[in-house]
Amino acid sequence: MDLKYNATYEAFRQEVISFLDVHWPAPDSAGESRAEKEAWFRKQAIAAGYLYRGVPREFGGSEQEADILKATIIRDEFGKRRAPMEAPGIGNMMLVPTLLECGTQEQKERFIPKTLTGEYHWAQGYSEPNAGSDLAALRTRAELVEGENGMEWSINGQKIWSTLAQFAQYMFVLARTEPEAGKHAGISYLLIDLKNPGITIRPIKQVTGGKEFCEVFFDDARTPADWIVGERGEGWTVSKATLAHERSSIGGAQTAVGLFEKLIELAKGVQYQGVTAIEHPQIRERLVILEGYVQSHLYSSYRQLSMAAAKQNAGRIGLMNKLINTNIGHMVADIAKDLINDAALLMPPTRGRAEGDEKWLNQFFGSLGVAIAGGTSNIQRNIIAERGFGLPRDDAE
Ligand SMILES: Cc1cc2nc3c(=O)[nH]c(=O)nc-3n(C[C@H](O)[C@H](O)[C@H](O)COP(=O)(O)OP(=O)(O)OC[C@H]3O[C@@H](n4cnc5c(N)ncnc54)[C@H](O)[C@@H]3O)c2cc1C
Repeated sequence: MDLKYNATYEAFRQEVISFLDVHWPAPDSAGESRAEKEAWFRKQAIAAGYLYRGVPREFGGSEQEADILKATIIRDEFGKRRAPMEAPGIGNMMLVPTLLECGTQEQKERFIPKTLTGEYHWAQGYSEPNAGSDLAALRTRAELVEGENGMEWSINGQKIWSTLAQFAQYMFVLARTEPEAGKHAGISYLLIDLKNPGITIRPIKQVTGGKEFCEVFFDDARTPADWIVGERGEGWTVSKATLAHERSSIGGAQTAVGLFEKLIELAKGVQYQGVTAIEHPQIRERLVILEGYVQSHLYSSYRQLSMAAAKQNAGRIGLMNKLINTNIGHMVADIAKDLINDAALLMPPTRGRAEGDEKWLNQFFGSLGVAIAGGTSNIQRNIIAERGFGLPRDDAE
């Protein structure tokens, strides 16, 4: 494994640094609010070829050849300056790649540019009360009916755990369009304007006091016949469409490293059983074990980066990223919760907004959620066992 970049990539890094010197922080003339400055900066970064590299220019991207090393350099240098990366959210992470791969020209033109700029917010409508890990058991139905403006899908059913649906304008939904077909067949991928009649969105109150998830009910909700992505009955395949390059391949080890560093700062600044926490033998032991995991994960991510740069598939190592990140996030939060002592009794207002030590409690609750979101840790273990090690299929599946 070679951990150094060659001269071409080091020159690229200098270009990125020079770009940031000029453009971030954004000059005063770029707008008044932080949001305006970020929007201005993103525009410059797209023009320079640094953001939305996998998205064609006609849909608002910078259309660059996939290059995992350049993508890594951009992320590292932007990260060091806390410069805005691509607008966060489900729309950019999931819908844009899906439309690029499977959408019609009209769908791409209509939805991608405003999703990239953060103007359109999307919610994901996959899970249902009895269809989470077993997603193909979903029961929400859609049928084609005559509407006021031609043929429309009439949607009936319920979704649950739809993140931030109360603030979204649109939702992408998996619905059964051929109820007689087998479990994985007969599902279609539909886009819905959440302002349409027949849609009720009910936020769910969480243990933290926040309301990040919603139940969404469809009662003869309508969406145009051509707001289907991919072919009718092939939504299962469409739902798996992902970006084939760059973003997905590294596994976020840097986040784990950053979290660990913050934990060390915390341990240096608080008292635990009468001594500075970092000096306490039990805390030191927990930190050393954790550091072992963090370092292994970091070097595994370097290995995957080298493999991706050499156009090799990371195979079973790649399958482990989500599980390892989740486990590290939970271990960090668990130690932090013990270190902050009585501050752990204070309930932070909502996730991410707490200022004091109690913000670690948000990290703790969040780490429990991450172990469920996007495929639970147990399902992840099954995938590693079956696809990675070739063990027999679990009977429960
Ligand atoms: C933070 C967060 C955000 C989310 N956002 C969204 C969203 O925006 N849109 C959306 O559609 N959904 C969303 N979800 C829902 C999420 O996808 C589901 O919660 C998840 O798929 C698990 O499904 P479930 O809750 O029905 O649990 P279940 O599938 O009922 O699982 C319960 C337990 O049984 C275990 N289990 C189930 N089957 C097996 C098996 N075969 N082998 C071994 N163990 C098994 C699971 O691991 C788990 O421990 C979100 C969830 C979270 C926590």
